[in-house]
Amino acid sequence: MSMEEEIQKRKTFAIISHPDAGKTTITEKLLLFGNLIRSAGTVKGKKTGKFATSDWMEIEKQRGISVTSSVMNFDYQGYRVNILDTPGHEDFSEDTYRTLTAVDCVVMVIDATKGIEAQTIKLFKVCKMRGIPIFTFINKLDRESREPLELLDQIEDVLNIETYPMNWPVGMGKRFIGILDRYHEQFIQYNGNEEETYIPFDQLQQDKYRDITDNPTYQETIDELELLEGAGDEFSLDRVLQGEQTPVFFGSALAPFGVQTFFDTFINLAPAPGPRKTETDVVHPEREEFSGFVFKIQANMNPQHRDRVAFIRVCSGTFTRGMQVKLARTGKSMKLGQTQQFVASSRDTVQQAYPGDIIGVYDPGTYRIGDTLVEGKQTFAYDELPQFPPEIFQRVTAKNVMKAKQFRKGLEQLVQEGAIQLFRGYPTDSIIVGAVGQLQYEVFQHRMKNEYNVEIMLESIGDRIPRWLKEEQVDPSLFDERNMLVKDRDGEFLVLFKNDFALRWFADKYPEIELIDLFEVN
Ligand code: GDP
Repeated sequence: MSMEEEIQKRKTFAIISHPDAGKTTITEKLLLFGNLIRSAGTVKGKKTGKFATSDWMEIEKQRGISVTSSVMNFDYQGYRVNILDTPGHEDFSEDTYRTLTAVDCVVMVIDATKGIEAQTIKLFKVCKMRGIPIFTFINKLDRESREPLELLDQIEDVLNIETYPMNWPVGMGKRFIGILDRYHEQFIQYNGNEEETYIPFDQLQQDKYRDITDNPTYQETIDELELLEGAGDEFSLDRVLQGEQTPVFFGSALAPFGVQTFFDTFINLAPAPGPRKTETDVVHPEREEFSGFVFKIQANMNPQHRDRVAFIRVCSGTFTRGMQVKLARTGKSMKLGQTQQFVASSRDTVQQAYPGDIIGVYDPGTYRIGDTLVEGKQTFAYDELPQFPPEIFQRVTAKNVMKAKQFRKGLEQLVQEGAIQLFRGYPTDSIIVGAVGQLQYEVFQHRMKNEYNVEIMLESIGDRIPRWLKEEQVDPSLFDERNMLVKDRDGEFLVLFKNDFALRWFADKYPEIELIDLFEVN
């Protein structure tokens, strides 16, 4: 197979959702399509104590939580599918965000009974900011849910993206009889079980389908659809690929219903790996020499094996096991020997990988988040991974003051690695760390103890809203515990506001002081 064919057949994506919207259930269905698992129910929720195939990895099992997101891959209809898992709510951390830098598009799962929820908004904003194409699956149509039109309005309003319904549900809950698949011009009948009947639109008028077409719910839906056809946006793959329009699919992951047609359509429309920006240029996947970047480092939580795995997204060329590459940051050459590809519950050794694929390499402490690896003479670095807005902050100290040296070393390395974000109080110089999710603190504490032999104390200073200041406008006397003045890693000043109210109060009182929001995501 030619390089071009290898690239075109790859579909690398993540599924994002608020917890309980049905991500695990839908992932399981996709794994069934890919023959990765044999029967439904193999992928169990964390809550049951059994682990989802999508929650795998030995160390995570030992720890009882899914520490970091992982990767599943399988072949489907001639495509190589790479699904990057993003952890759910309790596990939410910067890893979740960073995973989105390694995909070519995302599937957003929304619970039809609840509409858009907090976590979806956060993840969605990161996608939007980065221009990642978004496909939407509205789940749980087998239950009494919100009106489809209302759900589309909400997506458009809250997320500020055009919607195009690829299919339209006929009824919901007990009255749910199927979906009108606009894209394939067919009605898919829901029989209350896994069987789906496909009826082309032009055959629906036949007598034998009278029970469908005479159904008042069907009639209402046809009217609704006509309205939509007149007033709604046109489908535009270009706009989808620009991240400006999202194709919307309705269905039920559990029934399952509409999942197959969703996936078949999605897999055809989803983009193959494209060019990626470097600091000065763009690199096309067809570039002959291998290149990729580290988007995640997974530390082993087991003290007996302190190895770490660096996850690399292949961006160009062919990766071959044992190949010689250069680490762009240091210019150092190294051999990519101990590599793994992640296939559900086992770690298989990977011999070759192509753009879009994810490989894991053993990391003796060499890599940092965002590192670029390149083959050949020419060295370049992919665009820096964005920093994500921390929301929860804690003051950190070493329990034992005698361990100051290890404390500093551990802190420095874990900050470099991107495990946590560092700030310093001003003028007190106290150490404050910021994270997007609570789990990051657990990992931080655990690793400080196990890898650097330092017990740390964390004192919460709560959720905070960070705003940067211009150096010439800094007046320390205006700040206190409530609106805390700190410096970031680069020595820039910022204020950690206690809450939205404190922020607005300050802005009103000192209108001349410019408050800069560095994270467009907010
Ligand atoms: P996750 O937290 O997003 O991974 O959500 P899960 O896949 O674990 O699903 C959360 C709950 O919703 C589970 O009890 C599922 O059985 C249920 N669920 C998922 N999809 C559907 C659906 O289509 N219909 C109904 N009624 N329940 C569903």
